Amino acid sequence: MKSEKLFELASRYMPGGVSSPVRAYKPYPFFTTRAKGSKIYDVDGREYIDYCLAYGPLVLGHGNEEVKTAVRDQLESGWLYGTPHEKEIELAKKIIAHYPSVEMVRFVNTGSEATMAGIRLARGFTNRDKFVKIEGGFHGAHDSVLVKAGSGATTFGIPDSKGIPKDSVKNTLQAPFNDAAALSSMLERNSGEVAAVIIEPVMGNVGPIPPEEGYLSEVRKITKENDVLLILDEVITGFRLALGGAQEFYGIDADLTILGKIVGGGFPIGVFGGRRELMELVAPSGAVYQAGTFSGNPVSITAGLKTIEILERDGVPEEINACGERIRNALREIMSDSGVEGYVSGVGSMFKVFFSPSGKEVKNYADALRCDKNRYMALFHKMLDSGVFLPPSQFETNFISFAHTNEDMGMTIEAYKANTCVFG
Ligand SMILES: *Cc1c(COP(=O)(O)O)cnc(C)c1O
Repeated sequence: MKSEKLFELASRYMPGGVSSPVRAYKPYPFFTTRAKGSKIYDVDGREYIDYCLAYGPLVLGHGNEEVKTAVRDQLESGWLYGTPHEKEIELAKKIIAHYPSVEMVRFVNTGSEATMAGIRLARGFTNRDKFVKIEGGFHGAHDSVLVKAGSGATTFGIPDSKGIPKDSVKNTLQAPFNDAAALSSMLERNSGEVAAVIIEPVMGNVGPIPPEEGYLSEVRKITKENDVLLILDEVITGFRLALGGAQEFYGIDADLTILGKIVGGGFPIGVFGGRRELMELVAPSGAVYQAGTFSGNPVSITAGLKTIEILERDGVPEEINACGERIRNALREIMSDSGVEGYVSGVGSMFKVFFSPSGKEVKNYADALRCDKNRYMALFHKMLDSGVFLPPSQFETNFISFAHTNEDMGMTIEAYKANTCVFG
């Protein structure tokens, strides 16, 4: 296998042989030569239907032709200016149109950067140091949020990374998801000291865990009552659940919104935005410093603009979400027919089979940690052999794109049927 050889080589030059931990799995990850639409192809000539989709950004699938043309045209005019350009205004206006709670934005390069700056801004605005994150919530790989962090940090058993000074996380408080009462009492205990609550409206980095009915509006109410800012990390849900993200989908608002992934159309991006009064504190108009060489680069902005333009066409997000509903229903049927203990979770175009004890519902981080990771990885490998690429961790979300066809769905459901039965 060429992938195996390349992985050996890669492991000599890069820690774990990869550029980001989530990509590594045993015995070795496949190496990709190309990807198009719903499919990804490896160096050994195999084709897979892709539900990993680069962990979220590729809502239109791989290599969308319209995005490609727009980016090509942009390349003719240059790819990095280090000066303002007009398309930044266009993308800012589009975001603001879809997110009523956002009046101004700052473009950065990754979701990590955006949450780091968002938290800094909340602290700068309130003159308070503490903030609350949700257990298992993932907001990128910077110091203050790597406490009980999801994604690769959980997959590899290092939710609290080494190398982070205690001082950097002493102001990071943790509350469980789907438990408004716990958040409320935490804010009361720390009254006057908490700058913000940062939360993924649908937990996306321990597998998708949707909010229970009323939970998010309760979080909004509690943060307001306690005079604490609410930062919605919509890096995954933004432009996916709906054009207006979880805010539109669940009918809530935020003080600060974090976007990334989809909003760059497959190119690096992050965005933080919110009310004018808050955003005007950002340098150079205010005293909260934030800067970046590649921020607002015309390639990412162009790809993001074209992607949103396509999503704005009649019924596109709804169609992608309907595929999610179809696959979740099929998976529930497969699980109950086969008698396999597990729970099918998700919302919109996000889904996951959790091998939870007695098929119990997964409502938060603690529930996710109780699931059988080994069983999930066995399923992962069987699905891979059947030509379906799921994310290689019990704690990552499956995504569906606009490029996934009915035929893809049908083949995927058949593959689950054949492979899940093995565990019966
Ligand atoms: C992916 C992700 C991030 C980090 O984004 P990067 O671009 O990988 O830095 C932050 N928050 C959430 C919810 C994410 O899923």
